[in-house]
Amino acid sequence: MSAFVDEYMAKLKAKNPGEPEFHQAAMEVAESLETVIAKNPQYRDHKILERISEPERVIMFRVPWVDDKGEVQINRGFRIEMNSAIGPYKGGLRFHPTVYLGLLKFLAFEQVFKNSLTTLPMGGGKGGSDFDPKGKSDLEVMKFCQSFMTELCRHIGQFTDVPAGDIGVGGREIGFMFGQYKRVRNEFVGVLTGKGLNWGGSLIRPEATGYGSVYFAAEMLTTRGETLEGKTCLVSGSGNVAQYTIEKILDLGGKPVTCSDSAGYIYDEAGIDREKLAFLLELKNVKRGRISEYADKFKGAVYTPVDKAKDFNPLWDHKAQCAFPSAVQNEINAKDAQNLLNNGVYVVSEGANMPTVPEGVNLFVEKGILYGPGKAANAGGVATSGLEMSQNSLRLNWTREEVDARLHGIMKAIHKQCVDASAAYGFEGNYVAGANIAGFLKVADSMLDQGLV
Ligand code: NAP
Repeated sequence: MSAFVDEYMAKLKAKNPGEPEFHQAAMEVAESLETVIAKNPQYRDHKILERISEPERVIMFRVPWVDDKGEVQINRGFRIEMNSAIGPYKGGLRFHPTVYLGLLKFLAFEQVFKNSLTTLPMGGGKGGSDFDPKGKSDLEVMKFCQSFMTELCRHIGQFTDVPAGDIGVGGREIGFMFGQYKRVRNEFVGVLTGKGLNWGGSLIRPEATGYGSVYFAAEMLTTRGETLEGKTCLVSGSGNVAQYTIEKILDLGGKPVTCSDSAGYIYDEAGIDREKLAFLLELKNVKRGRISEYADKFKGAVYTPVDKAKDFNPLWDHKAQCAFPSAVQNEINAKDAQNLLNNGVYVVSEGANMPTVPEGVNLFVEKGILYGPGKAANAGGVATSGLEMSQNSLRLNWTREEVDARLHGIMKAIHKQCVDASAAYGFEGNYVAGANIAGFLKVADSMLDQGLV
């Protein structure tokens, strides 16, 4: 580690103790930016990196609600408004028991660079709660969402901060929160994205993150004159991102063979085809069941439960060419990364945020595989949220084809920015450096323009 990164990290860790995910995300960015900052002293003089890693505002609040048994429950709600240099704060809400301040700071920090890459005018934010929607009734989820939004609605707005979904927050939760915002504020505006089609949502928004991650992989493959046709693909997760990743892999002629949830994974050697995907969507979005049921239904598939004693995830230990981690942060450890390489994987496109540990990232970069980090590869979701905001402002709805074409164009533009920025600073082929540098420059220059705020 250089003295510059050393000093920056020492200060960041002292200011943000006990937040390892935030430290990890900040470290990766600082390493990528060292050369940029050395060549452009104005960023150092104006302490842009230090300012960009300090949230503009952090909101933390109590969320009381009553469960179906009549018992009082108390959760904690958060919104991190990280950076508004290029537009209103924008980023998802995560409802998961592991949510705490440091996790959301990492996600909000990543969001700043990601949103900058989308080419759209969006700042970065993230929020959520330690509430777990799993196993809760619809009524309980509604009561929680209403209580959460009763406080959050004071801090967000169509020109201020526009949240979306993330883990544990899908169409159902967005609906309940939008309803409560409208009721309390008495205004019908595009204050959330991922809305239902009847009330301001955009076509393709549910599909966008998964589709975008596959478009990004296809774009990386183009640099080698290849396509996804006939390639075997490992996918993790079975939520929103994983589902539409599988769909787009099928559209582009690839063969998805795995998916997972927090209890285990399935390996379907014959491939997850459209009929099986339809079953998966019904299982996860309607029945809210477990992935093991896929193997009960389709006998050729093998279900493997999570074994905490293992130091690797067997999902990443199958012969394949492509991998699409689409579940959760740090789901690919160093051994998993090595297993992927040993099994012939040379395309990794991250649907999830920061799913690969730093040792794994280094391995992918050293080996020169086509490795698209989450900031770039999964930016299609927030980009389409940006398109939803545009449609809300115009009071118009674009067709499915129009939104998909814009999404595809944005993913190509993100890819080009990564390639160009990495080449400009001597990191050819390194999409991690490319994404961090390209994302940073636009925000940094805007911060310089706007003075010390
Ligand atoms: P989701 O619909 O809630 O699905 C999350 C999936 O990950 C579920 O299958 C879940 O299984 C699994 N999972 C959660 N924790 C896990 C763990 N500790 N180990 C293994 N699997 C686990 O969420 P999503 O929207 O698809 O988000 C997935 C990832 O994509 C996240 O990293 C998110 O930040 C990122 N992302 C999402 C969007 C978006 O538009 N939604 C945009 C950009 C990035 P269980 O059901 O068992 O928990």
